[in-house]
Amino acid sequence: TTVKLKPFIEKIVHDLSEFAEKRKITVKVEIPDNISIKIDEKMFHAIMKNLIDNAIKYNKEGGSVEIAFKEYTNEIEISVCDTGQGIPCSHIPFIFERFYRVERSRSRKLGGTGLGLSIVKLATERLKGKVELESEEGKGTCFRIYLPKC
Ligand code: ATP
Ligand code: MG
Repeated sequence: TTVKLKPFIEKIVHDLSEFAEKRKITVKVEIPDNISIKIDEKMFHAIMKNLIDNAIKYNKEGGSVEIAFKEYTNEIEISVCDTGQGIPCSHIPFIFERFYRVERSRSRKLGGTGLGLSIVKLATERLKGKVELESEEGKGTCFRIYLPKC
């Protein structure tokens, strides 16, 4: 299916806007108009929804989320960056495992199952892409998804 990137992402942000407002998080979508990609819509939706949900959930009150797009010769990059507490370095190797959560008590309070990122990883691989993350404790986290153009 062909997906119009900007409205597709804006719809997901809109569906999460009540959650974001409750946590006083501003979400910015920095994606140019008129970018279309050919992709499995359901898998792409699962990836983006989980990353944006986490960026809101693990942010700090009054924080922000930025979703951006970059284009390279053979691939595109979509990044989701937040101003949250970050992920401690020692946890990063496990973060994509099923049911893994960094801090059990805090995570339990926020709700969720610990499956989101395992879905992100599986779906990205299925789409022949890759996922990277960069995180600084106390500053925030960026997840970057790379998807091949063909
Ligand atoms: P679910 O997504 O199933 O509702 P979850 O959010 O706990 O539950 P994952 O999305 O797989 O599960 O994330 C795993 C853990 O990684 C989270 O519990 C959290 O501790 C940590 N994490 C994920 N994204 C972020 C982020 N953007 N900033 C800080 N920590 C994060
Ligand atoms: Mg999650």
